[in-house]
Amino acid sequence: MATGIETLGLPRYLAYFTFAPLWETFFGELGVTTIPSPPTNMGILDDGVKDTVNDACIPIKIFHGHVMALRDQVDAIFIPRLACYDGEATFCPKFLGLPDMVRHSCADLPTIIAPRLDVRRRGQDLKHFLYRVGHQVTGNGRNLRRAYLKAINAFTEQKERWQQEGLAAFGFQEPKDTRVQLGLLGYPYMLYDRFASGGLIDKLHELGVRLETPDTLSDEAMKAGETDLVQNMFWYYSNRAVWAGLHFLKRPDIDGLIHVTAFGCGPDAMVDKVLELECKQHDVSFMSLTIDELTGDAGLSTRLEAFVDMLVSRKRGGRQCD
Ligand code: SF4
Repeated sequence: MATGIETLGLPRYLAYFTFAPLWETFFGELGVTTIPSPPTNMGILDDGVKDTVNDACIPIKIFHGHVMALRDQVDAIFIPRLACYDGEATFCPKFLGLPDMVRHSCADLPTIIAPRLDVRRRGQDLKHFLYRVGHQVTGNGRNLRRAYLKAINAFTEQKERWQQEGLAAFGFQEPKDTRVQLGLLGYPYMLYDRFASGGLIDKLHELGVRLETPDTLSDEAMKAGETDLVQNMFWYYSNRAVWAGLHFLKRPDIDGLIHVTAFGCGPDAMVDKVLELECKQHDVSFMSLTIDELTGDAGLSTRLEAFVDMLVSRKRGGRQCD
C-alpha cells in the first residue's frame, strides 16, 4: 500500500543533533527523500516565537520555527515522540509532548509522523521502533533490515568521529593556540547550533579556548562521571551534562566549566545548581550562561572574554569558582 510520502521533513533542531545520521540513512535506504530544515536563522526564530505558547523554553520555540520552514516543502514531517532511548532516563516532558504541541500550534501542516520511542517497553527497542516507522512511511515492509543495519552503522560512525576528532567533527575550527582548556556543558541543540548559541563555540575558539563537550567524551568517561553521582537526574540529556561535568572536574588539564542553559528550561534549574555546587566543592571555576531570544552578541562576548581572562590570570595561582 503506497502512502504517498516521497519527501520527509526533518526539523534541524533538538534531537536532530544526536540522531540525524540514523534518521537520514534509514529513510534514505527505504527510498524516501529526507529534507532537513535550514540551519536556524532569524526567520525561523521569529516564526517559532510567534507560533509557540509564551512560556515554552527557547529551544521548543526554535523547533516550531523549523517545522514551519518545512511546512510547504514536504509530504510529511518526522517528529518522533522520544520517551526513552538509553533504557533508564526519559527525555524532558517537552520532548514527549512535542508532536501534540506542534499540531496544536502550527496551522496547515502536512502529515506528522510521530512514533513513540521507549526502549523500556517490551519489544520496543530501537530496531522495532525503526521497523514500525519504516512501515508507516513506506506502507510496506521491504528493505527494513538492510536500512536498519546501515542506519546503525552511520550512527555509530558519527559517535566515533565525535570522540576522535572533537569539535572539528561538528564543523568548528579548533583554536590555533590554546590559552585555557574548558569543559563546555549543555544540550546538543544549545551547543552546536551556531544561531541558538550565539556562536558561542566559535567565540571561545577565537579566544584561544580548547573545548570538550559531553559528546566528545568516550562512554567510559561518561560512566565514570555517573558513578560519582549519588542520584541521577530524570532526564537523558541532563544526565549527560552532569556526568560530563563530574568527569571534567577530575581532570587537572581542565581549567574551568561553562554550562549553557536555555531560558525557560525546567531541568536546567537543577542541572545548573548541581554543577555549580560540584565546582565549588572541587575549587574549579564555573560560569553559567543563559541563552534566550534576546541574548545580545556584544553582551555574550564581553562575558566570555572576562571569564577567559580571569582563568588565564588565575592559571598559575590555583583554581577558584567565580
Ligand atoms: S530540556 Fe529544557 S531546554 Fe530542552 S526541551 Fe526540555 S525544557 Fe526545553
